[in-house]
Amino acid sequence: MCQVAIYPGSFDPVTYGHIDLIKRAQEIFQEVIVAVAHNPHKKPLFSIKERVEMLKKATRDIEGVIIDDFDGLVVNYARKKKAKVLIRGLRMLSDFEYEFQMALTNRKLAADIETIFLMPQESYSYLSSKLLKEAASLGADLSCFVPDFIERALKDKLRQTR
Ligand code: ADP
Repeated sequence: MCQVAIYPGSFDPVTYGHIDLIKRAQEIFQEVIVAVAHNPHKKPLFSIKERVEMLKKATRDIEGVIIDDFDGLVVNYARKKKAKVLIRGLRMLSDFEYEFQMALTNRKLAADIETIFLMPQESYSYLSSKLLKEAASLGADLSCFVPDFIERALKDKLRQTR
């Protein structure tokens, strides 16, 4: 029986879509480790430390959730944490190809670790951190997509980087 699941990602920043998935995973597993990836190929808006802090604040009322960050292969990190399951989200068909490739690559690297896909509530199925940042830069109201403190952090960060 597997008690621990890892939900890896960039979370740049965390949205209600990610939070929806964390809640669903937490209903199934005793412990869900949300792990922010150090990905040298992506240029995130927020630092790892900021993303971890935002996730901690956004999930503080959800039991059994741990926020962490990791370097290197996610399957190595999962083994270190004694987790046999990786959680990923599927929003639309457009996610499928990339997620499918990644899941099969991870299976090749570590046959003992399974990827499980969860789907968010329909209203979050078009929500992405990338689009959120674009909408924020154009001054959109983001209250349907992220908690207030994330909206403020996002708008402050975009002002600083302009
Ligand atoms: P990554 O760079 O690893 O794709 P993201 O933070 O963008 O990091 O996403 C992490 C995981 O969460 C991915 O599996 C992605 O499909 C999923 N995800 C992102 N946004 C949503 C959402 N609105 N609803 C459900 N899953 C989502």
